[in-house]
Amino acid sequence: MLPLACGAKLKEVKIVIEFRNVSKVYDSTDTHALNHVNIKIEDGEFVFVVGSSGAGKSTFLKLIMHEEKPTEGEVIFNEYSSATLKKRQVPYYRRTMGIVFQDFRLIASRTVFDNLALAMRAVGASPKEIRSRIPYVLELVGLKGKENNYPDELSGGEQQRVSVARALVNNPSTIVADEPTGNLDPARSLEIMTLLERINALGTTVIVVTHERGLVNHFNKRVIYLESGRVVGDATGTYEGVTQQ
Ligand code: ADP
Repeated sequence: MLPLACGAKLKEVKIVIEFRNVSKVYDSTDTHALNHVNIKIEDGEFVFVVGSSGAGKSTFLKLIMHEEKPTEGEVIFNEYSSATLKKRQVPYYRRTMGIVFQDFRLIASRTVFDNLALAMRAVGASPKEIRSRIPYVLELVGLKGKENNYPDELSGGEQQRVSVARALVNNPSTIVADEPTGNLDPARSLEIMTLLERINALGTTVIVVTHERGLVNHFNKRVIYLESGRVVGDATGTYEGVTQQ
């Protein structure tokens, strides 16, 4: 090994998510959704996960969210491992993770403010914390002044911004987004992805499942390509650059 130059320090790389030889079989259909997946995602990365329908993308996210357990291998998120995680620890585990869904999943009968406040109350935030944090997060996602609107008074793009704000409100280390632009037109899709990129630039790790080539190519980020439950491409660049390796 070469000695380090005097005073030089190696940059410490923190791994936030690691799949160690992970396989997932759904017993009900005997489907091998993931096969021996090994992946490391570093703190602060922006990663696209791509692949055709049935490739295992949702399963990949469900394992990260601990909605499903691996049949074989181990999924590690921060200091937690799927091999040892207890049921009672799952809420703590999820606190450091913000989730964005394709269909927004906002509560229609609650205002924007209340949708966010509920997420904060669920982790024990005080009314004072809630009052100070929500305006900050709404401004960050470009929704200042929409606190008292109900979801159906907002456009699709705005509703997805609310759901990004909700994912961010508890200051997670990682945001996981499952087809976040699937219900949006191309212009709004670009806006949401740009927002996720900005959030990433502020230090949050972002993992996005998408099938939208144009968006993947626009952002020039790391792309993990799944096919039949295997990682068959993993590189920074364009969709085609990774899928045609
Ligand atoms: P993708 O998100 O890439 O479309 P999925 O992870 O949803 O892929 O699915 C991978 C494979 O696992 C598919 O063959 C799918 O039918 C199967 N699968 C997914 N979820 C379940 C489930 N809950 N029970 C049985 N089979 C499932």
